[in-house]
Amino acid sequence: MAVKMLAEYLDHALEFERMAAALRAAALLQVANMCAKCSEIHFKIAHYRQMATRIADRLTLDGIAGLMMELANAKAARHPAEKK
Ligand SMILES: [Zn+2]
Repeated sequence: MAVKMLAEYLDHALEFERMAAALRAAALLQVANMCAKCSEIHFKIAHYRQMATRIADRLTLDGIAGLMMELANAKAARHPAEKK
């Protein structure tokens, strides 16, 4: 019984790994298609998102959220014709 549970767990873990790898590949492809300025903004946003995972202070998190919003808006404003 325990072996079956372990097998099922590994099945799900592998499935999760495959999904995560596909998402990483899609994210890299997305950045590869960006212009230099947009990829710079993209990595700044990613940096703030990563930073936010290590912060518990509400005011600091609000500040980071505001900065991320500004960057996302700046990025969106650069290519208005490409809006989906
Ligand atoms: Zn761009």
